[in-house]
Amino acid sequence: MKYDVVVSGAGPAGSRCAEVIAKAGYKVALIEKDINFRKPCGGGIPRASIFRYYPQLKDLDLVKKNYIAMYSADGHILEHSFEETDVNPIVIDRLEFDNLIRNIAVDAGAELFDKNISYDFIYKDQKKIGIRTKTPSGTNEYLANIIVVADGMSSKLAHKSGLREKWSPLNIGIGKAEILEGKNNLNEKGSYFFFKKYGYGWIFPIDKQKFNIGTITYYENNLKYNIRNLFEEFLHESQNRNFLSKEAYKVIWSAIFPEPATGVLEKSLYDDNIIIVGDAAGFVGPISGEGIHGAIISGQIAGETSVNALKNDDFTANSLKGFKKHPKIKNLIRLFKFQRNLVTFFYENEGENLNKLFKMVEESKEFKQIVINTFIFGQNPPKDFISRIKGSKN
Ligand SMILES: Cc1cc2nc3c(=O)[nH]c(=O)nc-3n(C[C@H](O)[C@H](O)[C@H](O)COP(=O)(O)OP(=O)(O)OC[C@H]3O[C@@H](n4cnc5c(N)ncnc54)[C@H](O)[C@@H]3O)c2cc1C
Repeated sequence: MKYDVVVSGAGPAGSRCAEVIAKAGYKVALIEKDINFRKPCGGGIPRASIFRYYPQLKDLDLVKKNYIAMYSADGHILEHSFEETDVNPIVIDRLEFDNLIRNIAVDAGAELFDKNISYDFIYKDQKKIGIRTKTPSGTNEYLANIIVVADGMSSKLAHKSGLREKWSPLNIGIGKAEILEGKNNLNEKGSYFFFKKYGYGWIFPIDKQKFNIGTITYYENNLKYNIRNLFEEFLHESQNRNFLSKEAYKVIWSAIFPEPATGVLEKSLYDDNIIIVGDAAGFVGPISGEGIHGAIISGQIAGETSVNALKNDDFTANSLKGFKKHPKIKNLIRLFKFQRNLVTFFYENEGENLNKLFKMVEESKEFKQIVINTFIFGQNPPKDFISRIKGSKN
C-alpha cells in the first residue's frame, strides 16, 4: 500500500500529525500497536493550549482544576488556588484521551491500522521508502514518501533509523503510576506534587473517587532505587498526610514505564524521508515530566512540515529540516535545555536546592508565582532564578 505519509504510533504525537496531514488532503497511514493500550502517564495537562488543539475536550465532563499543592521533601508547602475558566488544567485518563484524538485523526481522513507493530524500514537504493510491521496474521508493508516516527519512548524505528542511540538509564526517568478508586480526602479540583530526593511523586484526582497516583526517579537514582518499593512507601506516606484512606483501594490500572528526561535529541530529529516526534525524540519537559504538550506540538509541526514537503515534492533532509527550524520546536528545544540544567541544580546534594526553593516560596509571593509558572506551566524563570536560590540560606 502506498501513502504520502506513514505515521508509526497513534499516541498524542502521531494522531495529531496524521490529522494535520489528512486535513490537508493527503493519504496518511496511522500505524498502532494496540488501541487498547493505556499509556503509563499521570494524565495531567496544565496547558490552556490543549483546548485550542482539541476543543472537543470541552464537551467532556472533565473536572476543572483550580488548586495546586506542592510539598518539598523537608516539609515546606506551596498552595495555590486560581480562578475557574473554561480552559483550566485537566487530568485525563490516557486510554480515553488517546482514543478520542485517534478518532479525530480518523475522522479527518487518516487510515488507522491497529494491531500492527512497526519494527523496521523498507529501503530502496539506500533510501527509506516505507516500514514493515508485524500483525497477528503475518507482516505488512506500508510504503510512503515520508515516515513519521511517533511510537514513543521504546521506538524501534527511532533507533534503527541510525539517527539516535538507545536511551541510557542515566538519561531517563522511571515511573510507576496507578489509577485507584475509593473514598479519599483529596480535593478533586486539585493536583498534588511531592518532591523527593530521588525525583517526585504525584496525586492527580480524576473525579471524586478516582485518582492517578505515581512516583518517578531520575538519572542515577534509577540505578540507586527500586521504583516498586518507592511507590509503596509513597502510598503509605500520603496516607499519613490524611489524603488517603487506610483501606485498600480498588486498582483500576497499574504500570511502570520510562520517560525521556534530558530534553529534545536535537541532532536526531530528521533525515531524508523521516521525522521523529514526541517521546521518540525526547519532547518531554525535564522539570515536570510533562510530555503530552510536547508530543502534540511536535506532531502538529511534523504534520505541517510534511504537507509543505508534499506540496514541493521534496522529501530530502533539506526540506524536512523545516521541522527543527520551526519557532515552536526551537522554543521547546531551548526551554528543555534550560530546564535540564535546572533539574541538575535542584537535585544536587539530594535535593538541597529544591528544599531551599520551597522555603523561599513561603517568604515571597512573587517568587511563589515564578515557581508555579516554571514547574507547572513550563515557563522560563527570570535569569537570576538560580543565583537567588544559591544566595539563600537553608
Ligand atoms: C509514569 C509517567 C507519568 C507521566 N505523566 C505525565 C503527565 O502527567 N502529563 C504529561 O503531559 N506527560 C506525562 N508523561 C509523559 C507522557 O506520557 C508522554 O510524554 C506522552 O505520552 C508522549 O506522547 P507520544 O505520542 O510521543 O508517545 P506515546 O504516548 O508513548 O504514544 C506512542 C504510541 O505508539 C504506539 N506504539 C509503540 N510502539 C509501537 C510500534 N512498534 N508499532 C506501532 N505502534 C507502537 C503506542 O501503543 C502508543 O499508542 C508521563 C510519563 C510517564 C512514564
